[in-house]
Amino acid sequence: MSNEWLKEAGFETLAIREGLNPGFEQEHSDPIYATSSFVFESAEQAAATFSGERDGNTYSRFSNPTVSVFEKRLAALEGGQEGVATSSGMAAILTLCLTVLRAGDHVICSRNVFGSTVGLFNNILTKLDISVTFVALRELDDWRQAVTSNTKLFFCETPSNPLCEVGNIREIANIAHDSGALLAVDNCFCTPALQRPLSLGADVVMHSATKYLDGQGRVLGGALVGSEELMAEARGFVRVCGPSMSPFNAWIFSKGLETLQLRMDAHSQRAQALAEWLEAHAGVKKVNYCGLASHPDHALAASQQSAFGGVLSFEVDGGRDRAWGFINAVRLMSLTANLGDVKTTVCHPASTTHGRLTDEQKQQGGITEGLIRIAVGLEDLEDLKRDCERGFAAISA
Ligand SMILES: *Cc1c(COP(=O)(O)O)cnc(C)c1O
Repeated sequence: MSNEWLKEAGFETLAIREGLNPGFEQEHSDPIYATSSFVFESAEQAAATFSGERDGNTYSRFSNPTVSVFEKRLAALEGGQEGVATSSGMAAILTLCLTVLRAGDHVICSRNVFGSTVGLFNNILTKLDISVTFVALRELDDWRQAVTSNTKLFFCETPSNPLCEVGNIREIANIAHDSGALLAVDNCFCTPALQRPLSLGADVVMHSATKYLDGQGRVLGGALVGSEELMAEARGFVRVCGPSMSPFNAWIFSKGLETLQLRMDAHSQRAQALAEWLEAHAGVKKVNYCGLASHPDHALAASQQSAFGGVLSFEVDGGRDRAWGFINAVRLMSLTANLGDVKTTVCHPASTTHGRLTDEQKQQGGITEGLIRIAVGLEDLEDLKRDCERGFAAISA
């Protein structure tokens, strides 16, 4: 923690006050250090800064004061020692993998992770002779059975997209640690406002800051949070390989963190109300939202999250035609695969986010043709219901 007087501060205070550099005290809103490099007073000072003897910035691929604010603030909110910011969420996962893995190593990953995460493990890391086994997020025995003598990393995303399945972070961490591996959790869907994986035993938290940390769909970014030792290595990777976060984007994310708790609570309240309304709707076969008592992971979600997040999915009868009919009839919700925005978004997972899966993989993952995902934004709930009614009316004939 960088600021002494914040030692006992609560989450919402840290979200607003943590991380500011001493040099920022003149501006009430954090300034943006839009500079690629930094100047020195003397050759001696330059040498000491480059060698690391003296704290300070040299070049923005290595570090930048505006990016440091975001890193410190996010680390405090996740309850971790340090954070490392990256240019996107995928860059954060790549940084993590190339920090903790080497040729010959093995990864165990939950099956319903973000599509590009699957691509990274299957198509890119395999070139470096790093292998992966995908397992069902909820099946602890599957995690146990997948362990090999080379397993170094467990990776999961919970709750999952779009079925809102929940993995038991504490148990998965225990299995990882018993086999000498680390557990990394993609905390994109909950953010630290709703779930803090490090406090449940995970070793690293990974973020696509692009989603709820920004919260308004403006810029790309990512981050890792973990121990000082691990983050020093990750920082070394970013420094040399260059997937660094831009200072402008870091400023957006730090501003986003200031309202994170309020927004996540509001997303969760609306999603809960919409899920309950959909569940009672005659046009709906099934609703997947871990805030519903009918969801198989409701109790687990309630035990490790403070609320259930903004993403839900539901199934309509009649497969793709009727799901597309619903989506084509809504007017307010944006048809896009993005999420974590104040604007509500709607998509058909089977033909977009999960479109590249084989039929068998879709069936295994529960991605049916009648499934529709809604990432609930912050518009008026009544308007969202009215928009859904447009969709149901179009397919009820
Ligand atoms: C979007 C997303 C990512 C990838 O993040 P980018 O910022 O788009 O690179 C990773 N994980 C999850 C859960 C995501 O939603």
